[in-house]
Amino acid sequence: MGQVSLEDDCLVRELDSRYYGFLDLSNPKHAELKNLIQQTIAYLQTFIANGQTNGVSKKHDTKNVIQNCDPPKEEPLDTILATNSEDSKANDGDSKEIKFFNDDKSQEEQYVNALCKLGHLHLLLGEYSEALSAYQKYLRFRENNYWTNHAFIYGIGVAYFKLRCFKWAIKSFQELLYLSPNFTCANEVHLRLGLMLKHCGEFHIALKHLQLALLYTNPSTYSELQVKFQIAHLYEVQNKHKAAKDGYEFLLNEKNISLELKADVYRQLGWMYHCVECLGEKKEREASALSFLQKSIEADPKSGQSLYLLGRCFAGINKVHDAFLAYRNSVEKSEGNADTWCSIGVLYQQQNQPTDALQAYICAVQLDKDHKAAWTNLGILYESCGQLRDAYACYLNATKQISFQKTSIFRRKQAIRMKKDPIGLSKGLSQRIKFLEVQLSQAPLPSITSKRRQLCSIEEAWNLPISLEMNSRQQQTAQMLPRQIKQSPIQGPPPPYPHSQLSQSPIPAKRIKEDSPIQQELIQQNIQTSQLNQNLLNISETLGQRNLNAMPEGNKVSEQSVVDTFDDISNDIYKQNENIKLERLSQDAISSNLSEDSKHNEYNGSPDSEFSTNFKIQMDSKQLMAAVKLLPVDEPPVHCTVLQVNAPPPSPPDCPPQKLTRDQLLPPTPSVHLENKKNAFSPQLQEFCLKHPIAVVRGLAGALKLDLGLFSTKTLVEANPDHSVEVRTQVHQSPDENWDTSQGKRVWACISHRSHTTIAKYAQYQASSFQDSLKDESDKGFPGSQAMSDSDSKDSVSNSNIVLKRKKHKINSKMLRFGTNVDLSDERKWKPQLTELQKLPAFARVISAANMLSHVGHVILGMNTVQLYMKVPGSRTPGHQENNNFCSININIGPGDCEWFAVPDAYWGGVHNLCEKNNISYLHGSWWPVLEDLYKENIPVYRFIQKPGDLVWVNAGCVHWVQSVGWCNNIAWNVGPLTARQYSLAIERYEWNKLQAFKSIVPMVHLSWNLARNIKVSDTKLFELIKMCLLQTLKNVLHIQEYVKSKGVEIRFNGRGKNEASHYCGQCEVEVFNVLFIKEQEKRHVVHCLSCALKLSPSLQGIVCLEEYRLSELQRVYDSFTLHRTQGLAYTQ
Ligand SMILES: [Zn+2]
Repeated sequence: MGQVSLEDDCLVRELDSRYYGFLDLSNPKHAELKNLIQQTIAYLQTFIANGQTNGVSKKHDTKNVIQNCDPPKEEPLDTILATNSEDSKANDGDSKEIKFFNDDKSQEEQYVNALCKLGHLHLLLGEYSEALSAYQKYLRFRENNYWTNHAFIYGIGVAYFKLRCFKWAIKSFQELLYLSPNFTCANEVHLRLGLMLKHCGEFHIALKHLQLALLYTNPSTYSELQVKFQIAHLYEVQNKHKAAKDGYEFLLNEKNISLELKADVYRQLGWMYHCVECLGEKKEREASALSFLQKSIEADPKSGQSLYLLGRCFAGINKVHDAFLAYRNSVEKSEGNADTWCSIGVLYQQQNQPTDALQAYICAVQLDKDHKAAWTNLGILYESCGQLRDAYACYLNATKQISFQKTSIFRRKQAIRMKKDPIGLSKGLSQRIKFLEVQLSQAPLPSITSKRRQLCSIEEAWNLPISLEMNSRQQQTAQMLPRQIKQSPIQGPPPPYPHSQLSQSPIPAKRIKEDSPIQQELIQQNIQTSQLNQNLLNISETLGQRNLNAMPEGNKVSEQSVVDTFDDISNDIYKQNENIKLERLSQDAISSNLSEDSKHNEYNGSPDSEFSTNFKIQMDSKQLMAAVKLLPVDEPPVHCTVLQVNAPPPSPPDCPPQKLTRDQLLPPTPSVHLENKKNAFSPQLQEFCLKHPIAVVRGLAGALKLDLGLFSTKTLVEANPDHSVEVRTQVHQSPDENWDTSQGKRVWACISHRSHTTIAKYAQYQASSFQDSLKDESDKGFPGSQAMSDSDSKDSVSNSNIVLKRKKHKINSKMLRFGTNVDLSDERKWKPQLTELQKLPAFARVISAANMLSHVGHVILGMNTVQLYMKVPGSRTPGHQENNNFCSININIGPGDCEWFAVPDAYWGGVHNLCEKNNISYLHGSWWPVLEDLYKENIPVYRFIQKPGDLVWVNAGCVHWVQSVGWCNNIAWNVGPLTARQYSLAIERYEWNKLQAFKSIVPMVHLSWNLARNIKVSDTKLFELIKMCLLQTLKNVLHIQEYVKSKGVEIRFNGRGKNEASHYCGQCEVEVFNVLFIKEQEKRHVVHCLSCALKLSPSLQGIVCLEEYRLSELQRVYDSFTLHRTQGLAYTQ
C-alpha cells in the first residue's frame, strides 16, 4: 500500500454521489483512492456500529471524513473536480482538522451524516445494495427534512436505478428535479428518468426528459449521440417506424459516432427491417436486415445479441445452417442467453430432432425459469410426442409466467398489437391446458408397462445437468449440442408440476447487473423492448396455428424478471420503511432527543431556511425586496413552490384511516331535484353542491326551461357540420368492468385510439349506430325496441333496456367510436348555444365574476369554454381529476343516459397508488378502476345515472369516470368557486404537476396575481393562500432579477398584450411568470424558464431576458392585496 496522497485524502472527504459515473474507481490510476475509500468505509462502519451499541461514539473517534453531509453546496461538477486539489493544498496540516471537523455538530448528527457518507462511498464503488442500505438508514433519521440534502436524494435515486427499483428511482429523481432543477447532475437525472419512463411505457414524458437531457452543456457520462439513439429507440418502441428509422439513419451519418453505438444502430435497423412490414417488400427487407445485422457484428464482433438476431433472420428465411452458425456464435459471445437456447430448440424441432430440441429448451428454462416461450415450446414438443402430462406441466409453467406479467410494458405492447393479437396469449395457452386436462382425465393411469416414451420426462430432463455443460465456454468449439449427458448433482429445484402452486415455484433469479455502464444496460433494454412486439405476436400465432414458436419471447421475460426483481426489492424496502416507522414510534422515548436535535440543527443549519424563515406574508413589498437583496446570487434561484415556505416535495395523501362498512363504500349520491327556477337560483343549491364531493342536480333543464335541443346532434350538424371532433375508438364493455381481452382478465388500463373527424361525419355514425341497433332488435324479434319510439318525449327517453338486451346477444366485444372534446368556444359559431347557457345560475355559468377561471384573462379550452361530447352506448371517459382540481359542470343533453362513478378527493392518493400498482401513470395514463380493487383499499365509490337534463356537479378534486348508457350528447366546462378549498386544491395540484413534469393548464401564478387585482377576499384562509403565492412568486421574480443582473444581462421591459396567454417554458412546460428568457430556436422565439435557459447557456449569453410587468406594478398589487374585513361580500369586480 503506497503513501496516501493529501489530494486523495481530501478528495475522499469531498466525495459524494455527484461523482458517480465520473470517477472510475476500476481504473488502475485511481487504485490508491479506491483503497482509501475502502478504508474509509471500514472506518465508517466501525463508527456506525459503535454508535449503534453505545448510543453514539466518542466525539474524537470521528475523523475528518464525517463532515456535514447535509445540504451540500451545489457547484458545477467541473468546478468541484477542478478545485479539489487546490482546496486540499489550502487546508494543509492541522488546519484541515478544524475545517472538516465541526465541533458544533452533535455526535448524533455525526452518526447520521456518517450513514449518508457511507452511502455515497458505497455508491462510488458500485456497491449499490450497500449504498441503498446506508442511505435508507440515513433517511430514517431525516424523514422530516431529507429534502434539503440533494446529494442524498441523487445518491439514493442512483442506487435505486442501478438496482432497478424504477418506481423508487423515478420518485427520488422527480423530487430532486422539483427541489433543485439546477442540480449539478440534473442532466444525468433527466437521462435516467427518460430511460426508466421509456421502460415503464410513459413515452410522452420519457421523450420530454430525453430532450431535456440533450439541452445541457454540462459534463455528462453520456454523449449527445447516445441520447439521440435513445430518442430514436423511443420512437421505435412506439411503433413510430418512420421517425425511428430517420433517427437511426441520422446517427449513421454522424462522423464522431463510436463503434459501439454504430453497432447498436445497425442492430436496431436490422431488426426493424426484419420485423416491420411497412419498410418494404419482404425479400428486400430480409436482405437489408441481414446486411445491417452483419454490419453491426462487424462494428462490434463481441455482440452476442446481434449474432442472435442474425440467427433469427436466417431462421426466418429457412437458412437453417446459417442460423445454427449464428446462434452458436451468439452462445459463445453471450453465454447464458435463454433466448438463444430457445431459438436453437426451435430450429431443432423444425429439423425434427426432438431430443436435441428438448435439451435446448431445457437449457433455456434452466437459465431463465420464467422463459415463457421456452416452456410453451416444450409443451408443444411434448404434445407432439404424445406425452400429454409433460406437455400439461410445461403449459402450466408458461401460463404461470403470464400471470406474473403485470408490467405496463407487457400490457402496452399488447395494446399496440391488439389488432394483430386477437387470440391472446393466455387465452390460447389456457385453451390448450383445458384441452389437456380433459384428455388427461380420460386417459388411463400411466403404468410402468406403457409404451416407451420418445422423450425423457420433464422432471428427468430438468434434473440432467445440461445447461452447465452447454454453457461452458470450454464446450463452445465442440459440437453444437452435446448429446452425451453426464451424471452430476441435481441443479436447482425441479420444475413445478401441476400440483405445485405459484408460491412453491422457484423464485426467479435476481438479475442485478453489478457495475455495468449505463450504455450497456440501455442497449440491452433496447433489444428487449424491440423484440417484444414480435415475440408476443409470434407466440399467439404459435398457439393459434400450432406452429413452432420461432420467436422466443425471452426478452420480454427478461424484462419481466427485471420488474420482478424490482418488485422484490421495493417490497423489501417498503417493509423496511414500515419497520422503520414502527421502530421509530417505539424508540421515540429513547431517541426523541436525537431526532429533535437533528431536526433543529437542520432547520437552522441550512442557509436556505435561514433566509426563508424571514419571509412572511405580513411583509410589505419593500421589506420583501430588502430581504431578497440578502439572498445569495452565486447560484440560480429555483422556481419556487407557491404552497408555503420550505415546503417538502408534494406527494399524494394517505387515505382517511377510518374503516368503512360495505354500505359506506357504496354511498348514496347526493342529489337534489329542482321544481322551478327559484330552486335553481337559491343559494342553498350552491351550498349543497359545495358541500359534497359530487352532486346530481336533477331536472335542471326543465326547471330553467333550457332548450337542450340546441345541443342535439341534428342542430349541431345544421350549425357547423365541418367542425372538428376528436374520436376515441374503444371496446364496448359493461360499465363496471374493464377487460383486457388478450390477457383474459380485469385490468385498469383503458385502451383507446385517437383520431379526428367532423360533426357531420360523427353524426352519421351516431345515427347509423342507433339504426343498426334498432335493426338488430327487430331482426331478433325483440318487442323491447319500442322503448325508443317517437311517442316518448325526447328529453326523458332512456334506452338502457335496449343496451342490456343488445349485450346479451352480442358476445364478442365490439368497437365503438366516442366523439370527444368538441370545442364550442367560438362565440360566432355557437352563439345560440352559448347564450342559452347564460340561463344557468351564476355558480354554474361558464363566465362569472365568482368563477376563478373567468379571472385568468384568456381562454383555456374546455375549462373556461364549453366542450361537447357525442356518444354512442359504452363511450368511456376514463378516470381523472379535473385539470388543477377545478370543479366541473356536466349537463346531459340526452336522449340516452350516462352512468357515473366518483371517488371523493380525500381518497385520490389511494386511487393514485392503485394506478401505480397497475403500472399506469395516474396523470398521464388512461385507466378504468376495477371497483373491487377500490373497495379492498377502503375507497368509497359513488355510482349513479345522469338522465337527460340532469346537471352533475363535480367538486374540486373529485376522481370520476363516466360511461354512456345510451346515445347522447353532453356539454361540460370547469368552474372555480372562490373558496379556500378550491384554491388550495388547485395550487397543490399545480405543485404536484410540476413534480411530475405534467403541464398545469391553469397558470396558477398568473391567475393568483389577477385574483389579487380583481377581487376582495374576506375569507382569511383564502386570503393567506393567495398572499403566500404572491409572496413566493414576487420573491422569486426579485431573486431571478438580481441573479440575472449579476450575470451582466440586461432585463428589457416588454409588457403584456391584452388577453395575452400566460407563458410556459418551451422545454419543461413550467409556467413562466414575469421574467421570460427568450431564445431563438428554429426561427421561433421560444420562452424558457431560468433553469432551462441556463441549460442552454450557463452564462445566459445569447438569451434575451424580458419583463412582463413593471416591478412597481407588482409591488402595488402585492401591497394592496389585503384581507377584506366586511362581511358577506366575497368579491367585487
Ligand atoms: Zn423550463
